[in-house]
Amino acid sequence: MNLIDPLIEFQPELQQIRRDIHAYPELCYEEQRTAGVVAQKLTDWGIPVLRGMGGTGVVGIIKAGSSARAVGLRADMDALPMQELNTFAHASRHTGKMHACGHDGHTAMLLGAAHYLAQQRNFDGTVYVIFQPAEEGGAGARAMMEHGLFEQCPMDAVFGMHNWPGAAVGTFGVTPGPMMASSNEFEVIVQGKGAHAAQPHKGVDPIMVAVQIAQGWQTIVSRNKSPIDAGVLSITQIHAGSATNVIPDEATLIGTVRTFNTEVLNLIEQRMRAVAQHTAAAFDAQVDFRFKRNYPPLVNHVKETALAVEVLQAMVGTRNVNAAVEPTMGAEDFAFMLQQKPGCYVFIGNGEGAHRTMGHGLGPCNLHNPSYDFNDELLPIGASYWVRLAQAYLSR
Ligand SMILES: [Zn+2]
Ligand SMILES: [Zn+2]
Repeated sequence: MNLIDPLIEFQPELQQIRRDIHAYPELCYEEQRTAGVVAQKLTDWGIPVLRGMGGTGVVGIIKAGSSARAVGLRADMDALPMQELNTFAHASRHTGKMHACGHDGHTAMLLGAAHYLAQQRNFDGTVYVIFQPAEEGGAGARAMMEHGLFEQCPMDAVFGMHNWPGAAVGTFGVTPGPMMASSNEFEVIVQGKGAHAAQPHKGVDPIMVAVQIAQGWQTIVSRNKSPIDAGVLSITQIHAGSATNVIPDEATLIGTVRTFNTEVLNLIEQRMRAVAQHTAAAFDAQVDFRFKRNYPPLVNHVKETALAVEVLQAMVGTRNVNAAVEPTMGAEDFAFMLQQKPGCYVFIGNGEGAHRTMGHGLGPCNLHNPSYDFNDELLPIGASYWVRLAQAYLSR
């Protein structure tokens, strides 16, 4: 691996920062301490900061040379509402909160790059280091944009990165086009008419209607969308009734829809609504259809992805960069940024779990698992990528 030497030497300090953040995890929009640590480090290193953007977001501004061009590098800072099972020294001090997605590591890697870029100033233009709140369901990226991120910090492109357990350390995965799915949720309430269970003819049974709707919806994925397009519709909850001898008034269907593009999503939502409404009408029931779009699909831009691949190949070798990685149905709010700015999001291999030593829980080292821990070996790798990417982007 062709990493940046001062970043290899800086690894112990980055590890200490990473483990400190890991020990004090904070949830969506509560990242006060974490944002404080980030802002303090940036300030100590002579980097001007903007604070409170989109709630708890922080941006560091690093300038060199005379070019008007600018690039954004983005990390996320929030943790998850879950109990950590690890018992090592840097395990969570906050009951029921845990850095189980590695955002502690993302923050530390970007801090490492900021430190190096501020010391060396060996690039031409402006690098914005963006530390966002609330990636885990809170749309912190969008909150920063609504607060004026791209107006206050005008940038030509923006880049993101996430650790990927199971992929070897020193490898990267990326693909042009859709890489992560849109995430959407629905709640559909079928309004029938309650009755005695022995006198169904005096009511309208919402359970039977809900079952017909559930069956009908599955034909959307199998019969309406093109078999080439990816999409999934999962009903994850059905709620109705409270007694064995009562036909309830209503039944509720809850679940999620994931797609890689908006056209397929539009089609699925529209068909779901039609099937629900017409099925309900056929049975003399009513339906309250609620569909909420959370995160859009994450779509990498072709030119910026080619640049990221070039930078990565020069750093870790061609065979360690999967430039056509299989997309995942997970979602990521960096997608909002890529809707407004060209850019690219990559996966950085977090290792197979060999980095785990004493004190780990018994579970696998997977994202959102209570035994997960970010792999500190990645710190100089991810930081080196950020630096080389910024330098390369601004040089062309
Ligand atoms: Zn996550
Ligand atoms: Zn994450």
